[in-house]
Parts: sequence; C-alpha cells; structure tokens
Amino acid sequence: MAFTVLVLIVSAVATFTYNAIAKFNIISNEIISVKAFSNNVALYTDMRFKEAIASLNGYSVAFSDADNMTDEEITEKLIYCADNSFFCHIAFVDDDGRTCTNGEMGINPRVYAGTSLAGSMNVAPGANIYSVPVHSSSGSVIGTLVGKLEDNAAANASFKAYGVSGVTYILNTDGTIINCSNNTASGIAAGDNLITVLSDENDINLIRTHLSQNDVSDSFKVTYKDEEYILAMTSLDTQAWTLVSLVPCSAVIDFYSNITAPLNYMIFGLTAVFVILAGYLFYFTHRVRKTAEGIIDENNKINYVDDITGYSSWKSFMENYDKAMLDTGTKRAFLALDIDKFKTVNDTLGYEGGNEILRKISEIIERDIGDNDFFARNGGDHFFMVVEYKNEKEVTEIVNHIISDIEYQITEIKITVSIGIYPITDANMKIRAAADRANLARNSIKSLSESRFAFFNQSMMENIREEKNIENIMEDALEKREFVVYLQPKYGLGDETGEVIGAEALVRWYHNGEIISPGKFIPIFEKNGFVTKLDFYMFEEVCKLQKSWKNQGLRPKIISVNMSRLHFPNPDFVSTLKNYCDAYDIDTKYFEIEITESAAYENINILMNVFSEIKSAGFHVSIDDFGTGYSSLNMLKDLPVDVLKIDRSFLTENADEEESASKIIACVVSLASSLDISTICEGIETKEQASLLSKLGCNMAQGFYFARPMPVKDFEKLVYNLN
Ligand code: C2E
Ligand code: MG
Ligand code: MG
Repeated sequence: MAFTVLVLIVSAVATFTYNAIAKFNIISNEIISVKAFSNNVALYTDMRFKEAIASLNGYSVAFSDADNMTDEEITEKLIYCADNSFFCHIAFVDDDGRTCTNGEMGINPRVYAGTSLAGSMNVAPGANIYSVPVHSSSGSVIGTLVGKLEDNAAANASFKAYGVSGVTYILNTDGTIINCSNNTASGIAAGDNLITVLSDENDINLIRTHLSQNDVSDSFKVTYKDEEYILAMTSLDTQAWTLVSLVPCSAVIDFYSNITAPLNYMIFGLTAVFVILAGYLFYFTHRVRKTAEGIIDENNKINYVDDITGYSSWKSFMENYDKAMLDTGTKRAFLALDIDKFKTVNDTLGYEGGNEILRKISEIIERDIGDNDFFARNGGDHFFMVVEYKNEKEVTEIVNHIISDIEYQITEIKITVSIGIYPITDANMKIRAAADRANLARNSIKSLSESRFAFFNQSMMENIREEKNIENIMEDALEKREFVVYLQPKYGLGDETGEVIGAEALVRWYHNGEIISPGKFIPIFEKNGFVTKLDFYMFEEVCKLQKSWKNQGLRPKIISVNMSRLHFPNPDFVSTLKNYCDAYDIDTKYFEIEITESAAYENINILMNVFSEIKSAGFHVSIDDFGTGYSSLNMLKDLPVDVLKIDRSFLTENADEEESASKIIACVVSLASSLDISTICEGIETKEQASLLSKLGCNMAQGFYFARPMPVKDFEKLVYNLN
C-alpha cells in the first residue's frame, strides 16, 4: 500500500516537473518562432506595399499630360486603372487641388496627396491608402495618384498560429498603432499607443529602443494587464514603421498542452511503471546482495577462519605472507611450532580436549606476537608464524615467551613445544620453501635437548639435498645389490660368557667405494617407506646366509633382523617373512624380529597383534632400544615378547649416576626375567660395563667391547672359523 502511494506521488511529481520544464521550454522556443512569423508578415506586408506603390507608379505615367486633359478624360482613365488593378478606388489630385476619382471613394483624396505632391510616394496610416507623385514629361510633379486598396495589408498579414489568430500591428516611430489586423483579441486597437498601454518599464524601454531603429528583428515576453504575451518586432522597408506581432503565452501553452496531453498520461504511466520496476529491482538486488553477502561471509569464514582454533586459516596466512613479502624493508622470521607428542595429548584428553589445547595455543600466540605479525595452524598440531624482528635476540625473546606461556598457562596436561626459526633472507622465498626451512630447524631439536627452539642453518639445507640424492638412487642401489648385511655378534653373559650366541643383521650401503651407515639413510627410508623393501631384502639375505650355513652343516645361530614399524599395517607382513623362510627351508626359530620401542608404544593393540602373529609363526620377537620410548613396564606382561634389548643410553660413563642406572637396569632385568623375557644390553664398550651387566643378571651383551658389526666373511671366520 505504502509502495503504491509512493509510486503515485513519484509519478505525479515527475509529470508535474516534466510539464513545468516543458512549458518553460515551449515559451522559450516559441519566442523565436513568433519572431520568425513576424519577419515573414513584415516581408509580406512590405511586398504588398511595394506592389501597390509600383502599380500606382505604373499608372501615374498615364497622367503625365493631365494638365492638358479634361476631368472626364482623367476620370475615364482612373476607371480603367481601378478596373485593372487591386485598387478599388483611385483618385488624381493636382497641385491646384483639382480632384478626379473613379467613383465615390469615401475619403478625401486630397488629405492623402500631400506627401506625394512633394515628390515621394506615401502609404497612409491605416495602410490601405497609397499615393505616388505624377510627373510631367519634363519631370516636374504635376499631381498625385491616390489609391485605396479594398483590403488592409496588415489585416491580411495577420497570421494563424497556435489555434488562435495572432494580432499584427503597424506602429509608427512613437509607438502609435497606425494599422491593426482585424483580430484585436488583446483589446489593443488602432490609434492606441503601444508604449503607453503597457505598464512594465523594461517592456516599454525595449520597444521604444526598437522603434527608433530601422532594421529591427526581435521578440520577447511582455506583460499586459497581468497576462504574458510574446511580442515580435520587425522594421518595415517601405516606411519608418515597425510591424509588431503579439501572441498570448496562454494560447501557446494551451495549444501545446492539447498536443502533449496524451504524452502527459504516457509520462505518468511510464513513471509509474519505471518506479515499480525500480522498486522491484531494488528489492531483488537488495535480496540478492544480502544472500551474496551471506554466501561471501560464509565463504570468508570457511576460507579465512580455521575451524578448530577460530583464528586465521592457512589460506589467510598465505595471503598475508605474500603481502608481507612485498615490503622488503622489514626483517621477518618464519617460525614453525609443533606440540611435542601431540598424540599423547589426544590420547589423554580425547579429541575435543586436544582441540581445546590447539585453541589455547592459538590464543597465546595471538597475544605474544606483534600487531604486524600473523600465524595460522597448518593441519594437526603444526603452527606457522611470521614475526617482525630487528635482531636475533628479539626473535629469541618472542619464541621464549611463546614457549614458556604455553608450558605454564596450559594446565590440563604438561605441554612442551618445539619451534624452528627461519630468518627470511630472500624476499622471493616461496611460502613452502620458508616453511620447509623452519621445519628443518624444528626437526633438528632433539626430544631430550634443553632448548625448545632452533635456528635454521645452511647445513640443514644440505641434509635436504642429500636426502633428495639418496631418494634418487635408492631403488637403483637395491637393484644393484649395494645394500649389504653386516653382522654384529651377540654374546652370552654369565654362564655363557664369551660365546657368540647369535648376531644382529645391520645394513651397510656400499656406494661408489664408500660404506654408508644406516643412521644416514634409514630415517629417510622410514619417511618415504622404502625401508620395508629394504627390510625384506635384508631378511632374504639373512635367509640365504642361514641356508648357506645349513648347507655347510654348521650349527645355526639366531640372527636378529630389524623390522620397521611401517610393516605393521601390512597384513601380509608376517606371512611374507614366513614365505622367505619356507623358500630357503630355514626354520623360523633361527630368526629374531627386532621392533624398536618407539614403534612399540604407538598402538598397543596393533603391536600385540603383530607380535602374536610373529610369535605364532615361530620367530623370536625383541623390543629394541628399550628405555628410550614410553612403553611402560606394565605393558610388558601383555606383550608376547622374547627379548628386551636395553638401550645403551642406560650405560653411563658418569660414576655418580652409575648407581641409579644400575638400579634401573637391575629392576628391568628382574622384571623381564619374572615374565620369562630375556635381556640383552646393547652398546657395551668397556669391560666394566660388561661385568656390571653380567652382575646385574643381564643374559646377553652386544657392543664394540665384544665385536663391532662386521662383514659376513669376518663373522663366519669368527664364529665358524671359515676362511
Ligand atoms: P639398532 O638396531 O639399535 O642397532 C644397534 C646399533 O648400535 C648399530 O648401529 C650398531 O652399530 C650400534 N652399536 C653396536 N654396538 C655399539 C657400541 O658399543 N657403541 C656404539 N656407539 N654403537 C654400537 P648401526 O648399524 O649404525 O644401525 C643403526 C640403526 O639403524 C639400528 O639400530 C637400527 O635401528 C637401524 N638399522 C640398521 N639396519 C637396519 C635394517 O636392516 N632395517 C631397519 N629397519 N633398521 C636398521
Ligand atoms: Mg636393532
Ligand atoms: Mg638398538
């Protein structure tokens, strides 16, 4: 309803405005048009005057001998002239006052003859009586011919326009109307003085000025008795007169209004339609915009807000990074933060609890970094930050702040984090490359080290390059059999002291005349998964050895082979090992499968299944590097394990710590023994260590003190005395 009223108001206002503008334009245009009419009427009037004069002049010749003619003769000629011209009456008046006419004229011709007797033609006021001088053959003026036209030139000249008759006046120089068209609608008639009937000073002055000129052509608006008129003035050629045309403005407007009435309705209608359309258009664009804004808001939320932390997303981080890189004058560092053992956090607090920790860490980072700094979570527990700094000390302070805030402000569980710092040196550095460098720095932080942050250095990059190189050649190396089995003997302690009771197969890579140790490539193969291929390869190599010893009738030794945790998800893992044994016809009991403890912790259920499977296939199972991971002693009772390999980190060279270390080892050994699990200590380098372990009840020993890992040939020589 309100909209309809609005539409009507707007349409009416538009139409009214249109009309007001249109009227103004009409009058402005018609002022010019009326001048053109006036000019034409003046031209016509002049033409009529000249025609009449020329006609009289022509007849005047017939009277050049009038002095010698009788009145009858003159009258006869006058009748002839009148019959053959536009003049209804013609009179001859000579300088003595003799007057002859063609008939009753109704006027006194003598009154009009004066000027012409003086030698010039004349058009009398009233404009339908003309006179010309009559010359004798000698050239002297002997009389005058006076002609009266039946119609009035000015009256004839009045024009029809705008549906009314315009009024035409002929004015003499003082403004008196000496002739007037038949139509005198204005009420101003012949004999009136136009200047005195008008009241507006400006109108009067303008008209007066024009009357004093003899080549006027102008038009303008005048006011007469509160009504507006368009008045046009044009000077006539024939006499010092001015032709004036007068049209009431109301007639012009009425005339156009009649024409434009349908147009008005159209404008009204069109405006209404336009306003309705505009209204709907506005409504729909408003709705579309609102919906679009909603979608954009939602998208922005999805794109720019991390759904877990509620802080900025990785996408927004990337955009901020690109923007920050444009400003090359500021020093910035790229930081990579990871929560140490986040899995434990999740296992302890549950998924939601873990998310809450991520949120709290985000809050702390947001608080601790500067206004121009930015950060985002990049999946899991990985956070990246870009912070401005002036010197290394400053960035260290920021990082220490974050680390201590996280450690002290998060109280649900003990949280430690590691932060890698890469000071951005190259403004063209891509975000991925900067993140890789910060990650490298972070990865260099050892789990047990004091410092929880590290700066990137170039050697880390070299490690990456080396990693790439290794990855490029590993498959080829396997094909070329560059991976070689080394064996490190295991010795019995106690009763069996000095006897090689088995060995651990350790891989060595013979490459370009160099021997590369597993510490360099196993972690890389763990990352890229190649380790599983290598393990099977090593296992088969050991099978071959066992086979060869068997074939030689030698007493088999239990050889332990390291197996990566990456095998666990493979359901064929154990059966593959078993197949190798079958293929080489070696009993599985001559193999021990070493699984490192870190792997042992991660999922106790999977671990139990795999261990059980290995055991049921007849293999021995050992937990390698026991004591470095997080497995609890309690867990041991559920795991089908044959051997615990106590990590060499328990062996300390520090005498003060020796006692406590001994107690731990004694404890582990006694627990293992109670569970029927054998113990072996790795990394024994001294006689003292050996005797201590022997004393503590450890069953076996492995270490440089006894023997280093060695090529098969050396092992065979040592154990079987083979050459
Ligand atoms: P690990 O299984 O714990 O092997 C024992 C490591 O201790 C060997 O290092 C051995 O050379 C070293 N070692 C032995 N006695 C001593 C000692 O008295 N002092 C010192 N400082 N070190 C001693 P290696 O051969 O460099 O192997 C390192 C690790 O690489 C192995 O640790 C094992 O985890 C892994 N590895 C080696 N070969 C393989 C393999 O074929 N497959 C898999 N998955 N991992 C392997
Ligand atoms: Mg091992
Ligand atoms: Mg070990």
